[in-house]
Amino acid sequence: MEKICVAVRVRPSISEEISSGTYWRVDDNGISLHKIQGTPISGISYSFDHVFDESCSNAKVYELLTKDIIHAAVDGFNGTAFAYGQTSSGKTFTMNGSSTDPGIIHRAVNDIFHKIQTISDREFLIRVSYMEIYNEEINDLFTVENQKLQIHESLERGIFVAGLREEIVNNVEQVMNLLQSGEVNRHFGETNMNARSSRSHTIFRMVIESKGKDASSFGDYSSSDAIRVSVLNLVDLAGSERIAKTGAGGVRLKEGKYINKSLMVLGNVINKLSDGAKQRAHIPYRDSKLTRILQPALGGNAKTSIICTVAPEEVHVEETKGTLLFASRAKRITNCAQVNEILTDAALLKRQKLEIEELRRKLQGSHAEVLEQEILKLRNDMLKYELERDKLEMELEEERRLHKEREQRIIDQQMKIENLSSLVSDGDRSSSQGSTKESPKEECNDRGDDFKTPCFKAAPNAFVAKRSNYSELPDFSPLPDSFSNVADEDTWFKMNKGYIADLDSLQTTPARKVQSFPPQDVTPVCSNKNDKQELQNLKRQLELVIEEKNEIQRKHAEQIQLNDRLMGELTELKQEALFVRKMPQRLCESVASCKDIYEDVLSKMQSSASDGKSSTAKFLLGTSEIGTTLFSTLEAHFAMAMNGHNSSSGNDSLFQECNKMLSETLKSTITSLILSETAGAEDDQANAPLCSCNFKFLNVEGLHSGWRNCLLEGETEQ
Ligand code: ADP
Ligand code: MG
Repeated sequence: MEKICVAVRVRPSISEEISSGTYWRVDDNGISLHKIQGTPISGISYSFDHVFDESCSNAKVYELLTKDIIHAAVDGFNGTAFAYGQTSSGKTFTMNGSSTDPGIIHRAVNDIFHKIQTISDREFLIRVSYMEIYNEEINDLFTVENQKLQIHESLERGIFVAGLREEIVNNVEQVMNLLQSGEVNRHFGETNMNARSSRSHTIFRMVIESKGKDASSFGDYSSSDAIRVSVLNLVDLAGSERIAKTGAGGVRLKEGKYINKSLMVLGNVINKLSDGAKQRAHIPYRDSKLTRILQPALGGNAKTSIICTVAPEEVHVEETKGTLLFASRAKRITNCAQVNEILTDAALLKRQKLEIEELRRKLQGSHAEVLEQEILKLRNDMLKYELERDKLEMELEEERRLHKEREQRIIDQQMKIENLSSLVSDGDRSSSQGSTKESPKEECNDRGDDFKTPCFKAAPNAFVAKRSNYSELPDFSPLPDSFSNVADEDTWFKMNKGYIADLDSLQTTPARKVQSFPPQDVTPVCSNKNDKQELQNLKRQLELVIEEKNEIQRKHAEQIQLNDRLMGELTELKQEALFVRKMPQRLCESVASCKDIYEDVLSKMQSSASDGKSSTAKFLLGTSEIGTTLFSTLEAHFAMAMNGHNSSSGNDSLFQECNKMLSETLKSTITSLILSETAGAEDDQANAPLCSCNFKFLNVEGLHSGWRNCLLEGETEQ
């Protein structure tokens, strides 16, 4: 267990302004705020592992603060050095330096290559990456296309940024060239470069792998066969000042939002870690990408140093106080660094071993420089293949997730359609009677309902069958085993139910050596050829998944069209049903009004035939009876239709009875008319033609207008 090493560096003043109230004084390892007369201001005095004044060079900072961490990284310990402070306080100057006084990164790279040359009994493999966190998005500074990268965690690799380009390097110049190209990319496409550079964090990362040179025996996992893997992070953080100058008059706000979320979370993490009593409390590493990436460096398995840069000007006194407070909290954090030795294939050195040996054999006799170049080229090619494969795996996983989502959407859609279909069928059952509408879809209706389910229902299982066939298809691209260890941030968090490693247990657990599998003597570590093959396979799988995706999208679009058509048909059918349901009632009303007219006319005619005994009077009486019977029959029929009786089924006898009664009444009336005609032929001859003529006219006219009204109403409603 060791404390994080914390130093404060005061940069030279860059303003001409002479302090009128206070100034910062540096004494040995302390820094305190003093009044201009020299009296210290109580409560504002701090001491740290180191306090560097304005005259201190980067060389001295490196020597006192970072050198040990860099050397430890070569020996297999994780290491992190980061610069924290407000904008323009000297973070970038400390990390990158100038041509006359190189910064920590340059010195560290130099030192590492220098040191590994002095270690003759170990073989080293170093790879570097360079990333930027800007607005909570991780961008690769080596490749502009690699933007918005995700953090993943796997059992073997721990926390890593998926898809981040890594370059294997052999010497300082290569690293410096890469860094330079990274700096160019950092500003790429940005209009406000200054604002961005002060709001983004950059992480330069070196992964150092090494193994004993004599450990060549396969299948024998002796301690010398273990590979040490350490990660060194050199971090230039975004400006830590609060949004201070706001509003008219540039009022300084003591409180305010931090410039970016990750610095605020970093502050929280440091606070929690420094609060010894609550060390077992939840540490919010996952609240920002920065803290998640730096998790091992903060309260974990790493040697860490923080350099807090401050500006001496009086105008920055509030920010400087904030930085010193942050630094004093960070000082209380303890880490537990241990040498990371592994036996698994997680070590690149191990995975590349066979191929490199093969190449060495082939190039035996070549000039040493050619050999080294060839080896480096091969190594980088292999690393690229691996990274490409990882990327494809991630893409494949993403495709699978989307595919599942689409499938679920289609199932939902299908259920909706089935619900609609059953709704239509229910409508059929309740309102089919009385409809005489003919439809081309009638042939699809095997129950003889008037309201038909659309044609596709004739084979209701066609689509379902297809789907189930589809779902029975074998999963043709099972995930590679190693991939199952990988989970994205959220999944991982959910899987662990927010579990955060117990820091104490981290401190006491000894370094574990994990048995590599499959053993090297049985199956050789992945070869270049295998890599290519695997890459091809993954590509094929990806293509298949994309094809599948397109097919599903097409089907989905078809379903939506079908759904729309169904909805249209359903609306039409509902309107028709409404119209048909109202039809008997309208007819009834029409018959009732015809009956009224008829009775009215007849009563008038009867009153005009005064004696009531003439044949005309009898004829009218008979006609009245016939009319009343006819109308009653009609009314009875309509009433039955309205009550939902089916005239074609069990109620035939009722109708036959009515018809019989009607014909009997007619017969008897006609007979009585014939009889009375013989008795009073003269009267009849004088009156009958006029009355019968009137009767016919009124009757027909009355009925006709009743029907016309009914039909007109029907048309308007439609
Ligand atoms: P930051 O990265 O914190 O925003 P910089 O490192 O860019 O700040 O520093 C701002 C300016 O101050 C730069 O011009 C830099 O050269 C200068 N500077 C910072 N620290 C020092 C130092 N210790 N010695 C000399 N110049 C410095
Ligand atoms: Mg800077």
